[in-house]
Amino acid sequence: MNGQRVGIMGGTFDPVHYGHLVTAEAAREQFGLQSVVFVPSGRPPHKRQGGVSNFWHRYLMAVLATATNPFFEVSILEYQRSGCSYTVDTVRAFRDLYGAGTELFFITGADAILEIFGWKQPEELLAMCRFIAATRPGYDLGQLHALLGEYFSGAVSVLEIPVLSISSSDIRGRIKRNASIKYLLPEAVEAYIIKSRLYQDGS
Ligand code: ATP
Ligand code: MG
Repeated sequence: MNGQRVGIMGGTFDPVHYGHLVTAEAAREQFGLQSVVFVPSGRPPHKRQGGVSNFWHRYLMAVLATATNPFFEVSILEYQRSGCSYTVDTVRAFRDLYGAGTELFFITGADAILEIFGWKQPEELLAMCRFIAATRPGYDLGQLHALLGEYFSGAVSVLEIPVLSISSSDIRGRIKRNASIKYLLPEAVEAYIIKSRLYQDGS
């Protein structure tokens, strides 16, 4: 073991927002991660086809959003792989990249982890990396306990974050109806969205 700990933050990031950034930073601090890699999905298996913005828009917004944090990186790994992006394949690729000495932490919102048994090869996935499930203070963990059973304490750590109910879909909806998106995401990302005229058709 080289003692390295690396966080993987997977998502569509369409667009990236403060919910993602606060979660990644809290995970880094609480779990002593050397870095957190944001991995925008290539072709997300669980999202409607065609409704997701071009990879490079999502990648560039993630780069803009993470530019001020020296511990954050953005990966094009899922773009380079053809076919659907499955978390198990992504984690396997990172394990090959960093080697067995690095402990991997996959960071998700509690909502996403509740769907884990619908993902590809969930058992392998839970064996390969530790999960950090972000919840808001007061969130009912009972559901998570019930679903994960014996895996719960072994493979999943809960992270309490102060984040509000910011979501990419809400931000896209606001843009479509000309409502303000200020203070929900970094200014540079807001400027990029306006400049590139993203989400105006409600996609
Ligand atoms: P959408 O509304 O399109 O589903 P989203 O805001 O959920 O977008 P994703 O890119 O789907 O963003 O999420 C990536 C990861 O970030 C997921 O694990 C998700 O649970 C987590 N996440 C999203 N929003 C928040 C938030 N406000 N606080 C904490 N985690 C979040
Ligand atoms: Mg989501």
